[in-house]
Amino acid sequence: MSDALLTEAHKALRDQVRAFAETEIAPRVAAMEDSPTSFDHELAALIARQGWIAATVDSAYGGMSAGHLAKTIIIEELSRVSGAMGAMVQASQLGVAKIVHYGTEEQKRTWLPQVADGTCLPTIAVTEPESGSHVLGMQSTAHRSGNDYILNGRKAFVGNSHIGHLHGVVVRTGPGSRGLTAFLVESDRPGVQLEPYQPTMGLRGFSFGDITFTNCRVPASNMIGDIGDGLSVAYSSSVLYGRLNLAAVALGLHQAVLEQTVGFASTRRRYGKPLSLLSPVGHKIGEMHARLMTARLTTYHASQLLDAGQPCDPHLLNAKYLNYESARTSAGAAMEIHAAAGLRTNLPVERLNRDVQHIWAPAGTGDVQLHRLAEFALGTSPGQQWSQRLADKLAPADGPWSPHRTPVLAHYQRC
Ligand SMILES: Cc1cc2nc3c(=O)[nH]c(=O)nc-3n(C[C@H](O)[C@H](O)[C@H](O)COP(=O)(O)OP(=O)(O)OC[C@H]3O[C@@H](n4cnc5c(N)ncnc54)[C@H](O)[C@@H]3O)c2cc1C
Repeated sequence: MSDALLTEAHKALRDQVRAFAETEIAPRVAAMEDSPTSFDHELAALIARQGWIAATVDSAYGGMSAGHLAKTIIIEELSRVSGAMGAMVQASQLGVAKIVHYGTEEQKRTWLPQVADGTCLPTIAVTEPESGSHVLGMQSTAHRSGNDYILNGRKAFVGNSHIGHLHGVVVRTGPGSRGLTAFLVESDRPGVQLEPYQPTMGLRGFSFGDITFTNCRVPASNMIGDIGDGLSVAYSSSVLYGRLNLAAVALGLHQAVLEQTVGFASTRRRYGKPLSLLSPVGHKIGEMHARLMTARLTTYHASQLLDAGQPCDPHLLNAKYLNYESARTSAGAAMEIHAAAGLRTNLPVERLNRDVQHIWAPAGTGDVQLHRLAEFALGTSPGQQWSQRLADKLAPADGPWSPHRTPVLAHYQRC
């Protein structure tokens, strides 16, 4: 999508997030790379205070009510500087989805203003060590005890596991596909235990670790949706938020790959001239640019369809699939252009290569996206699209977004 087709509000938002990321996040990337098992709570809190995690939350609850294209731009711009911080923001925005889609009025009034002012980072905890993509294979349970439920089990790879304040936990309350139920579990409740963090290949600074729940008692009023709605809570959050969010992280990484490579190939000299003038190098940069433009088009277009309340599940699947594939291909080409220099950690290209690998698995692996896209092509996709079922909760309630609604955007908040 051409820049000219973005609204002035979206362009202003993009410039603002970019300025913030370059000023506040870029100087901290090296420290995050050097500390793969600790997390910069202060930086996460500073980002959260910008209000961006509540990009799609209604202004009635203190949110930006800015919609999905604005959310995409925020994640993209943060990820351009730090994939880890883009992933941090997207993971909590994903945690917001279940409250927006299935929360009671009381739950929305309690939690969404705290998300909007940055004091609450929500998560969504679905994956388990023994189930992964097979969501219905989960083994964690909740049993009724008076007015409470008692949760037991272990969740794995939970985005913002070690910094989140409010976990959205999907567990088994009965048999079959109507036997899953979602609960809000405050991170300081007795029975919630963070497992020691296992270092990962990339996205250093973003926590996606394991949480164990042992006889963790939560009031029945913490249930999100009705008993048996857990699969819908998990799928709708993943389809409507997760896929686009991860596409936006890949898009920001992809943009950084192109910028880094152009800078390198324009200044590095071989045979008495810039590397970019060697035809295989120029060709690779041209392909990289083509992939990036296509990736951005699919992501922005899917975001706009969501904002317009249009059916777009296949567009969301494609955005996630295509952004991962194209960013990974470009990151590989960037390594080839950098040759030996790319292997050293003083240039960002090796970090970008590591980070991009993390986009394959979450919100449905690439194989799962292709499986679902095939179902749409074959006409065998089960049920109504999520973007149709929840259309009334997807378009901003108070019409097209303008930054006047969110004075926080006038200048970013340092304190
Ligand atoms: C950066 C990151 C953030 C994450 N954030 C969260 C989070 O916030 N909350 C959360 O609950 N989880 C999160 N996850 C976990 C993520 O959802 C899982 O990794 C994902 O569901 C896949 O599960 P798995 O890794 O166990 O792979 P598996 O499901 O074991 O898959 C193994 C292989 O089998 C293939 N496969 C599996 N099922 C199918 C199928 N039906 N059709 C075709 N191929 C298939 C896969 O493509 C893959 O190649 C995150 C993971 C990462 C990497």
